This record gives sequence, structure tokens and C-alpha cells, in this order.
Amino acid sequence: MKKTIPLFRSAAASEPMAAHLGQLCGDVLRSGVYILGPQVRMLEARLSGLLKGRETVAVGSGSEALLLAFKTLGIGSAGGGTAQDEVLLPSYTFIACAEAVIAVGARPVFVDSAVDDFLPSLEHFREARTPRTRAVLAVGLFGDPTGLPELAAYCRGEQLHLIEDVAQCLGARTGDATARLEPAGTWGDATAMSFYPTKTLGAAGDAGALAFRDPRHAQQARLLRNHGWSDGRHHCLGHNSRMDELQACLLNAALDDFPAAITRRQTIATRYLAAWSGCPMRLPRDAAGHAWNYFVVALPERRERDRFAARLAESGVATRIYYEQPLHRHEALRAWHGARALPHSEKLADCSLALPLYPMLDDEEVEYVIRAVRQAAVEIADPGLRADPCDLS
Ligand SMILES: *Cc1c(COP(=O)(O)O)cnc(C)c1O
Repeated sequence: MKKTIPLFRSAAASEPMAAHLGQLCGDVLRSGVYILGPQVRMLEARLSGLLKGRETVAVGSGSEALLLAFKTLGIGSAGGGTAQDEVLLPSYTFIACAEAVIAVGARPVFVDSAVDDFLPSLEHFREARTPRTRAVLAVGLFGDPTGLPELAAYCRGEQLHLIEDVAQCLGARTGDATARLEPAGTWGDATAMSFYPTKTLGAAGDAGALAFRDPRHAQQARLLRNHGWSDGRHHCLGHNSRMDELQACLLNAALDDFPAAITRRQTIATRYLAAWSGCPMRLPRDAAGHAWNYFVVALPERRERDRFAARLAESGVATRIYYEQPLHRHEALRAWHGARALPHSEKLADCSLALPLYPMLDDEEVEYVIRAVRQAAVEIADPGLRADPCDLS
């Protein structure tokens, strides 16, 4: 029977979870405390527990977390640095990364993806470094934390700030060959988290958080998120980036199931990787500790990617392109980059496709996605073929 598999489904949207969360939200509503209250404080403590005790500051969104991270570390003209400050960041990522660099009054320097990889290699960052470079923004794209230990060692040696964008890889772990795996979000000077509903830890609205190596930075970010205010006065000019109690309450509930949710993501990814190893598409790296926020494959060419997506849509399997453009090709960002080609990130934008992977997929749905993808892949490899090699019914 044909199924409809959306690209994402929230646990909060189904019973009995919806009723349970409704009850918790009712308690918050009755309490009359709606902003930066006990739920937010509890959330900050629990996030800190995920990040080896690093002090954590809840904010309004992941995008604001990035901006406040740069500002707190003194980068860019708005952070107390200069307008010449450069921040190295991948070109193949979400646009919020570049927006934050520009909003803080610094210059984004886009770095290409490595060959056959979504992430840049350390070599790419090294090549892009200039005497004006102040920081590296590492993005654990799609949940993959690979490279953080090497990048952290490089930044330490060069006296650059390392900011981790763990919007997609909260819950991932990584390490070098010898060491124990450590959580993504504990390698840099500052960490930006997003709790946008589709992330590994999702709210039912916008929310984000920051964590810092140095507690003094956390204290500064705590001032900045609420107009510089504490103890009855405004110590500096800040922002409104407060988290509300309803989102914090929902996130506290989601944290109860967080380890199980990450394990479920890993289980599904392992099944996908095994089932599709013979298909004519590039599969994501099977990194130990991967958080599998998104499962993104790369087809050989754009035409094949688009046919593949159309074929999956016919089977009822939703897909999405992450990302249609590398950052340096966006009209609004072109002026920051100039004409230099970053060929691997450009190729990825043409060829990559995200397939459904989230904890709420049940085993039957996983099986259905596996068969639909196999069938679509066979047809892409041999367009004359329209038979049914792995009967979907
Ligand atoms: C989602 C995301 C952000 C922005 O987070 P919001 O909470 O949506 O503002 C930043 N960086 C990356 C890599 C993301 O995936």
C-alpha cells in the first residue's frame, strides 16, 4: 500500500505525547511566569549537563545564539573588534551563519567543502586564513561532528576563536583516534544551539542557546540577551533574545527522551546505509557519534537528483534540497565573496537531497523509505527501466 512519508514529524504532534505536553504547558500558563523563569533555568542546567558542565544561556533562536556568540567573544565592529575582522565559515551551510558574521560587523570568508564531503577539510580553513582572521565557525552539518578535534587544535595553535554551530549536531560525539568521544559543543570557545522544531532537540517554536568555555563569557551573553539588564540596571546595550517558559518547558520534556531519540536516529541511519550501499548515489559518512539530524545523499548530477526526487514524490516519500545554493552564490552575499569559485560546495547544491529520517518514523515506514529509494535509484541508473524491482505494495 502506498504510504505518505513527510520529511519531518514531531513527537509532540501525536498522542499520547500531545496530551502530556498540553498538561505541562497548562501548568506553565497557570503559573503566570512566562519569560526567563524556572523552566528556563532548569533547561540551562540540563543543557549544561549535556556539555560537560559548560555554562549555558538560553536565547530566542539559533540565529541569535550565533550573533551573541560572536559579540560576546569581541569579534566584529559591533562586538568591540573591527570591521576588518574575518570569520572563516563553510559555504555549504544555512544562511544564518553568514548573517550573524555580517550583523556583528565582521567579514565572512567562505570555505569550500572537501571532495566528496559536505564539510570543509582543515586544509581548506588553513588556506583561507589571513592576518585578519579572528575566528572559525565550525558547522556540524546534518549532524556530523567530524573534524572538531583537529579544528580545535588548529585554532588553539593559531590563537583563533572556535565557535561551534551545533544547530544540527547537538547530541553528536566525536574524538581523535585515541581519545574517548566527547560531545559536539565542547570543543570550541562558544557553542550556538538551535531548537527549531526539526533539529535534534526541537521546541514547538523558535528557541536557541549558547554555551561557553569561559563562564565570564556566559555572564556577558546573559546580559546581552536581555538589554544588558541585571540587578536593577542596564550594564550595557543588549538585545531582546529571551526564551519563553513554554518553549523551555517543552524542551525539558524533550530532553527526557533525547538519548533515546538520538539512538533511534542512529538505528535508522545504520539501516539506510546498509540497504543503499549498492545504489548509484553517494551516502553520508558513517561517523561514530553522528547525530543524524538529516540524512543527505548526493546524486551524480543535478538532472539525476531532480528525477530521483520526483520519483520519490510519486512514491509518497518527501525530500528536500539542503541547500539549493552555497552561501557565496546567494545574491545577498555575493558582494562579500567576489567571483572565486568554490566548486565542491556548488556541486553539492546541484546534487544533494535530504531523505526522511527522524525518531517518529516507525519500522514499517523505514522499510517503505528503503524500498522506495532503492526503486528510484534503479530507475535513475537505467531510465528505460520502469519495472518494480522491489515491490512497494
Ligand atoms: C537551524 C540552523 C541555524 C539557525 O537556527 P534558528 O533557531 O532557526 O535561528 C543556524 N545554523 C544552522 C547550521 C542551522 O541548521
